[in-house]
Amino acid sequence: MGQIYDAFHRRSIDDRDGFWSEQAQLIDWHRPWDQVLDYSRPPFARWFVGGETNLCHNAVDRHLAARGEQAALVYISTETGIESTLTYRELHAEVNRCAAMMLSLGVARGERVLLYMPMIPEAVVAMLACARIGAIHSVVFGGFASHSLATRIDDAAPKLIISADAGMRAGKVVRYKPLLDEAIALANAKSARVLLVNRGLDPEFITVPGRDIDWQTLRQQHLDAHVPVAWLESNTPSYILYTSGTTGKPKGVQRDVGGYAVALAASMKHIFCGHAGETMFTTSDIGWVVGHSYIVYAPLIAGMTTVLYEGTPIRPDPGIWWDIVERHRVTVMFSAPTAIRVLRKSDESFITGHDRSSLRHLFLAGEPLDQPTHRWIAGVLGKPVIDHYWQTETGWPMLTSAPGVEQTPIKFGSPSFPAYGYDLRLLRETDATDAGPDEKAVVVVVPPLPPGCLSTVWGDDARFVSTYFSTFRDRLVYASFDWGMRDTDGYYTILGRTDDVINVAGHRLGTREIEEAVQGHAAVAEVAVVGVADALKGQMPLAFAVVKDPARIATAEGRASLEKEVMATVDAQLGAIGRPSRVHFVSMLPKTRSGKLLRRSIQALAEGRDPGDLTTLEDPTALDQIRGAVDEK
Ligand code: AMP
Repeated sequence: MGQIYDAFHRRSIDDRDGFWSEQAQLIDWHRPWDQVLDYSRPPFARWFVGGETNLCHNAVDRHLAARGEQAALVYISTETGIESTLTYRELHAEVNRCAAMMLSLGVARGERVLLYMPMIPEAVVAMLACARIGAIHSVVFGGFASHSLATRIDDAAPKLIISADAGMRAGKVVRYKPLLDEAIALANAKSARVLLVNRGLDPEFITVPGRDIDWQTLRQQHLDAHVPVAWLESNTPSYILYTSGTTGKPKGVQRDVGGYAVALAASMKHIFCGHAGETMFTTSDIGWVVGHSYIVYAPLIAGMTTVLYEGTPIRPDPGIWWDIVERHRVTVMFSAPTAIRVLRKSDESFITGHDRSSLRHLFLAGEPLDQPTHRWIAGVLGKPVIDHYWQTETGWPMLTSAPGVEQTPIKFGSPSFPAYGYDLRLLRETDATDAGPDEKAVVVVVPPLPPGCLSTVWGDDARFVSTYFSTFRDRLVYASFDWGMRDTDGYYTILGRTDDVINVAGHRLGTREIEEAVQGHAAVAEVAVVGVADALKGQMPLAFAVVKDPARIATAEGRASLEKEVMATVDAQLGAIGRPSRVHFVSMLPKTRSGKLLRRSIQALAEGRDPGDLTTLEDPTALDQIRGAVDEK
């Protein structure tokens, strides 16, 4: 760790109030806070107590005077061929219209608005409109199917759902509306109104009279709308974002207003080095936390132009992202390791053939970045490539290099050091003592968590404490559920999850969730899903299922057709992102004598490793079946 950064980090922990009140100057406040941090009820941290601000004001209104005519949002869809731009003034007008539309539909402060949307400007406008009126948005990734969506609808109980006829992926229309209708039927949301953007992509698009409203028609009624910003106490919830854990029920990560705005503004300055007037291109989706923080809020709070991209990294060809970098003079780019591994399969000239002189850094996060990929992309780009590590829960980086504070050398394969604000430690799993250099241990953060991190689990304070703060009996720490290690120079490496969560192409999925979806097929009696190493996507889910009627899998054809059916069930319930790469059929699953599934042994065998300690195994032939299934291919 460099000396300057070390001192900066130390101060952020030793003088929390001083440090964060300085950072808080980066945003506008309607009313100053009375107290920087209220930590009277650990582990709940309340930042900038009594202060009043608004995310939409900071992301849009406050830039009107200095940069009203500057592009705020550049929309590029290589799926539909549409490119459009909204200046800050135009974005402001659209957000006002949308806020008025929401108010006309009866959405009040504190009520939830659920967004199930493709990557279109209306999605960003709707998020900002919620923020403007103090409604709480909950964006659900468009790749999730009806069952996952229904669970989230039930938990958030939205007053309004905003969606569209369809999205597009790799040239194919992905219909959203039928999935939404099915989810609403499954869920307890009979009274929610549905606002729909009709992109004209789905010829079979139908609306439900009395419930569904057309975005364009309603917008026309509010063209001149002016909706004042709702000044919100800093700790008011701004949004809910669901994330997977060990149970089948996703957790609603709840974020605040003031702490989040300050954390994002500070991260743009110290970590991402993005300045007003420059352009940021984050290749994620608004359905993920990276999209919330670094497509929408942070670049706009910083007065930058943000690029909203609908499409894949390789269509029309693998040069598309670098063409965008060249044409829009992108200075800060943020992507994921899987995308880079995909690009690595193509000729380097797709990258080197474009002018990249505007680019300052490429940031990569979401999953482990392997050394060869890190080295390759840094070499081809000729720019610093910064691996950084964080989670939906934290909202901004936990481990990173902070070139805005000090340019520290990059080590390939490492996300560098703890970000300022995080008192991050590596603890031994057995006794919660601090691990030494090069020792694998659990990554934790000593609370209070810094501004921007989750305030609680939506509607469930007890779950917030029991999930995140109960790993060790004698030490109150936030558990990341990741293994990590620190070398003698202080550089960290992340070594995978400590729980049953897997990471597919940077997307977090709970094996329980996938198992529940597999069990949605009537023929399946029992199933185990494990994550298996994959050269491209990091990990892929693999399923081992026991069927109720063995006759169904007596022949190779029977097995193949049931496997297809099970995959289709997962697609329909959870979404294709959770689809197992294979479904193997076995007559029993390996369990301990007390009935606990030996997941780690299954995973080890599937990856061709030693299955470990098997002394508690009930029936050794169960493991032989797993071995046989994996070998069978
Ligand atoms: P999510 O909340 O979906 O963004 O997933 C967060 C999880 O992704 C973390 O707990 C890690 O397991 C993994 N992750 C994110 N960034 C990195 C990184 N740079 N290196 C290794 N793992 C990462």
